Amino acid sequence: MHIEILNTGTELLLGTTQNTHGSWIGQELLKLGLRVQRQITVPDGEAVRDAVKESVERADVLIVTGGLGPTSDDLTREATAEAMGIDLIEDEHAMRLVVKYFKKLDRYMAESNKKQALIPCGAEVLPNPNGTAPGVYVPPRLGKGSPCAVFLLPGPPRELKPMYQAEVPHRLKALVELTEDHEVVEMKFTGVGESDFHEVLDRSLSAISDLEVGYCARPSEVDLRLIGSSSAVASARVLVDEAYPDKLISDDGRSLEKVVVDLLVAKHWTLTTAESCTGGAIASRITDVAGASEVFTHGFVTYANEAKREVMGVSESLLNTFGAVSEEVAKSMAQGALKTSNSDIAVSVTGIAGPCGGSDGKPVGTVWLGIAVKGKPSYALKSFYPKDRSTFKLMVSQRALDLVRLELLSS
Ligand code: ATP
Ligand code: MG
Repeated sequence: MHIEILNTGTELLLGTTQNTHGSWIGQELLKLGLRVQRQITVPDGEAVRDAVKESVERADVLIVTGGLGPTSDDLTREATAEAMGIDLIEDEHAMRLVVKYFKKLDRYMAESNKKQALIPCGAEVLPNPNGTAPGVYVPPRLGKGSPCAVFLLPGPPRELKPMYQAEVPHRLKALVELTEDHEVVEMKFTGVGESDFHEVLDRSLSAISDLEVGYCARPSEVDLRLIGSSSAVASARVLVDEAYPDKLISDDGRSLEKVVVDLLVAKHWTLTTAESCTGGAIASRITDVAGASEVFTHGFVTYANEAKREVMGVSESLLNTFGAVSEEVAKSMAQGALKTSNSDIAVSVTGIAGPCGGSDGKPVGTVWLGIAVKGKPSYALKSFYPKDRSTFKLMVSQRALDLVRLELLSS
């Protein structure tokens, strides 16, 4: 099904308002297994009519946002009716909704608000419980007979989102006759690169019929999207699980930090962080999760050797013998954090973010990560992320959170 989104509003093109509707609707459609083919942004006024005219010739479904207000630059209704060759009429039901909204707020209704009850003849009125402008649904083959279905939704996000949820998905389902047997799964992986995915899985996944596969790669994270019948998606999952049994973070959109917090809550464990090169990035990600206070006790940032000694109890001789970026110091930091906080698990990181401070033995990008768990021997692992400082911090925090995740799963 060819779907287009038309976002109207001069402010979107001036850059003073960020066009969030495009991405929000795109994500909502994806939940139904549908994709946007084209997204167009035009200023208020004449351009709306031309854009609607073009889109209804190409698309099966057009979703228009904005321009349903009472002011002279709000012309979406007029433009759509004209582009589709349908008369605009004052709709009784729409008028009742507008009047009712003003009554509810005990506000005076201006003459200009009456135009919000103008609807292309034969179209459906979509109630707007959060604002004055009703939405509009023009079913396919109305008027001149364009086979394109058109939704007109209001611009303000707090009006658009509830109206979309209540009015759009079920109509789209009816239009495409989406069967119940249609699944969309988004799987989040860490510790495996996009190219590895291609090499290991592409051929076997493409052999599954009725399956669409998509990737989205970010530093240290790859999203794999599977769309298809439930049996096709299930077959794909078996292949993916076999290839990467411990790399899957979530299959329900949860971030790594959210998964870690959920696992801590489920185990009734508390976590402490001891960070050097990430400067608190791990603690920051953990505290982004609502409910982190239940499981996160301390976040230490011990940047200088002095701080590692005084706060984490790392011995002078370890620092002198092995250096701050070493297996011994990472372990000692994690052990010190565990002891000081009396937590169940502690993670530590110490590394060289660069651009200076590297050496032949420890080049820029080197990092040691330590894990200490109550009643278990602690350990440390080395990783290497020769990147700019902010990417380095992100990748180290990702690896640290993943080590905590794996430890929680295995302990
Ligand atoms: P109103 O009755 O408020 O005039 P409207 O349906 O005519 O509503 P607009 O005038 O286009 O809608 O926009 C109203 C508000 O919604 C503005 O503050 C605008 O910045 C915001 N808005 C409109 N379109 C978008 C968009 N695509 N993304 C984010 N915000 C938007
Ligand atoms: Mg407006």
